[in-house]
Amino acid sequence: MQISITKTTHPKQKPDETKLGFGKIFTDHMFMMNYSGAKGWHDARIVPYGDITLSPSSMVFHYGQEMFEGLKAYKGKDGKARLFRPDMNAKRANKSNERLCIPQIPEDMFVEAVKAVVEVDKDWIPSAPGTSLYIRPFVIATDAFLGVAPSDTYLFMILLSPSGAYYESGLEPVGIWIEDEYVRAVRGGMGFAKTGGNYAASLAAQVKAHDDGYSQVLWLDGVERKYIEEVGAMNIFFKINGTVVTPMLNGSILPGITRDSVIHMCKDWGYTVEERKIDVHELEQAFADGTLEEVFGTGTAAVISPVGKLRFGDEVMEIGGGKIGPLSQKLYDTLTGIQWGDLKDPYGWSVVID
Ligand SMILES: *Cc1c(COP(=O)(O)O)cnc(C)c1O
Repeated sequence: MQISITKTTHPKQKPDETKLGFGKIFTDHMFMMNYSGAKGWHDARIVPYGDITLSPSSMVFHYGQEMFEGLKAYKGKDGKARLFRPDMNAKRANKSNERLCIPQIPEDMFVEAVKAVVEVDKDWIPSAPGTSLYIRPFVIATDAFLGVAPSDTYLFMILLSPSGAYYESGLEPVGIWIEDEYVRAVRGGMGFAKTGGNYAASLAAQVKAHDDGYSQVLWLDGVERKYIEEVGAMNIFFKINGTVVTPMLNGSILPGITRDSVIHMCKDWGYTVEERKIDVHELEQAFADGTLEEVFGTGTAAVISPVGKLRFGDEVMEIGGGKIGPLSQKLYDTLTGIQWGDLKDPYGWSVVID
């Protein structure tokens, strides 16, 4: 793929690495590529970061035909930039594209575009402990047309945003609200796709949970309203009586790359891992029996997020006495060790860019 590069003449000052937060600061450049039915994907380019112009009738604004991805670049102590399983993001992007009638992006093209734009802005990868460069690829439908149909034209972009350490004061367990009113997705819907509409559907429940002092929502299935699905932007795992249990991918759950990695490592370490339906009442029972040993979320942003409190109706289940469990900690240490290049990577997941 030919990628033209136009460098900024006004490089911005790099931010203070102790005050990055998430998703508010952007680097000097971004990737863009257009699609039309006649030309296919064309005009791949890296340009200075800035506003773009679109017709107000662009389809994405009206019917939400869009998909996004999320991954990170990590700078190790050796100064090298690394990605984590970017081929998985490329594959998942195309699953989302397929569901949303967006044209496929060849996987090697997707990964090459990510590498190229990170390479141009590699000085923006922060190096303070726990910090990284968040990478946000996305595709939007750009036909200027109010009819309901798949667009003929699209824009694929990649933005880069230096992001702070997720945990400022260690791995603090979070409180999770098991949602029994709203649902996020149903089988046959778009739950497995990374698309804005799923997040639009989630906001009302998230606001409610926040108002009650819970940081995230745990969704139940949309039909029987009793099987565990996933957390806001994380998959969920339970350690029950020594066995690692997580909801199976049923079409309404996002197939997380961290989820896949955790399953792989747990099996490698000799745990029994069950991907299956989990009834919320089974959790209540395990909690009552004292066999609910650990609960944690998995996702690119937090890696491993220990859950210390689960609210369901009038019941509040406190897990792990406010501390991260040993398996959660080991998973966190191993995954982040591989991502930053501090540990040997026996799985071939880490991809060095330079
Ligand atoms: C992105 C995402 C995840 C986590 O996926 P990772 O690939 O592990 O980052 C989980 N759930 C939802 C809804 C997501 O959008």
